Amino acid sequence: MLTAAEQRIDVSQFILAIDQGTTSTRAILFRPDGSIVRSAALPLAQHYPADGWVEHDAEEIWQATLGVVREVLAGTALGDVAAIGITNQRETSVLWDRKTGAPLHRAIVWQDRRTADLCAKLAAAGLGPMVQSRTGLLLDPYFSGTKLAWLLDHVPGARARAEKGELAFGTIDSWLIFKLTGGKVHATDATNASRTMLYNIVTGAWDGELLKALNVPASVLPEVRDSAADFGMTEAKHFGAPLRIGGVAGDQQAAALGQACLAPGLMKATYGTGCFALTNVGRKAVQSQNRLLGTVAYRLGGESTYALEGSIFMAGATIQWLRDGLKLFANASESEAMAKKADPRSGVILVPAFVGLGAPYWDPHARGAIMGLTRDSGPNEIVRAGLESVAFQTRDLIEAMAADMKAAGLSAPAALRIDGGMVANAWFCQTLADLIGLAVERPFVTETTSFGAAALAGLSSGVFASPDAFAKSWRLERRFEPTINASQRDERYARWKDAVRRVMSAS
Ligand code: ADP
Repeated sequence: MLTAAEQRIDVSQFILAIDQGTTSTRAILFRPDGSIVRSAALPLAQHYPADGWVEHDAEEIWQATLGVVREVLAGTALGDVAAIGITNQRETSVLWDRKTGAPLHRAIVWQDRRTADLCAKLAAAGLGPMVQSRTGLLLDPYFSGTKLAWLLDHVPGARARAEKGELAFGTIDSWLIFKLTGGKVHATDATNASRTMLYNIVTGAWDGELLKALNVPASVLPEVRDSAADFGMTEAKHFGAPLRIGGVAGDQQAAALGQACLAPGLMKATYGTGCFALTNVGRKAVQSQNRLLGTVAYRLGGESTYALEGSIFMAGATIQWLRDGLKLFANASESEAMAKKADPRSGVILVPAFVGLGAPYWDPHARGAIMGLTRDSGPNEIVRAGLESVAFQTRDLIEAMAADMKAAGLSAPAALRIDGGMVANAWFCQTLADLIGLAVERPFVTETTSFGAAALAGLSSGVFASPDAFAKSWRLERRFEPTINASQRDERYARWKDAVRRVMSAS
């Protein structure tokens, strides 16, 4: 017998997700079971004004959001839309005029390295450990804090206007909420706040000392709300009637929710251009000893749940390089058949350190290599080694996570839930399971990021009575079990570690 709350799950209701990503802006209309009614997308122009600088036009993002939402809502009775959830590229920073809603500058994108010198200065002043213990982050230009400091220092008049309370700062979620509500709501959620380097993830508040260190006036900051919360109503003129914004999360956190990683030890990895892995570590933040990031996974009912996060720079990008650089195939999907044809005993190892190595090595000067070539090695063996490199790098992250979790008294992840473009490749998925020694689970709904945002909106609007209710929408499509034994696995991993050692800059 269903409880009254469970009976509220009504599949005739829709939830709208806005997924504002680095290269595109999308809207997806979901049914509560995760099935997609309609979706629309618009590409986003990238601006590179100087070496290492990356910008987006915040006004273009706003107009694209209106465009894709209007497109998916066309022909839908607005009364059937329970709420809107927003997920977004994280860390990208916008500064705008509170009165006119006009941005003062292009948005500074997460990849932008212009604040490397400022970060080096803060590190030299000994701020690294304080930043890590309070924010879970490493001192790096990636995060919003130094981007905001740059805007305040470089846009003429910005600092004086900010001191007078005339300006608002936000990551893309805040920017869209402000625009959608006609300037009524200036808010963000705890997952996005946790990427600013200004938010103390332990106390759950903006951190006065960090604001002082970066010379940021508190008046520009958005209010931090739960990930499933009331973020206001959209102005009626935008879509024909007001709609409630009921959920917000940064893209990787939203993907972890879409993968129903709701209990400690549940881990997801998204294999796109790069790979982002997140593991739920429960109600207490874990400080990494292995240069992973600590972050807020989600905040519900005022309580934060935390995650450890690690990333691989070159996941699908390795496959792109095999395709476009080496021209070994025309389509990423061909990599699967080639890997299958490769000699399994070839022993070729590809280390895709094209832009250095990330966690847990952190060597920006390392460069890539292909090792173990013999006269019999050909394109198939190299493609296979490229796919394997993504699995080996995943094991690197899992080892770091397991060590941090052990130190915190937690059990290591027991399985890995996967999504992203690469997981269409079943050979890769099976090899991943073999090389990490864990079951690899691929769900039916692979739009996990958007569904995570929709789930949050569904939670605050009563479509889902509890997180468990939307976790039920997570359904396994295929499970890949490891087929090699531990000594085979460790022997192959040792060869990978040896190859990595050889490409590191200090060797
Ligand atoms: P992003 O969101 O970063 O653009 P996607 O999740 O769309 O990435 O995934 C695209 C990536 O997946 C590309 O780098 C591509 O090389 C890789 N990819 C797509 N299909 C396959 C496949 N069948 N096998 C291996 N890699 C693939």
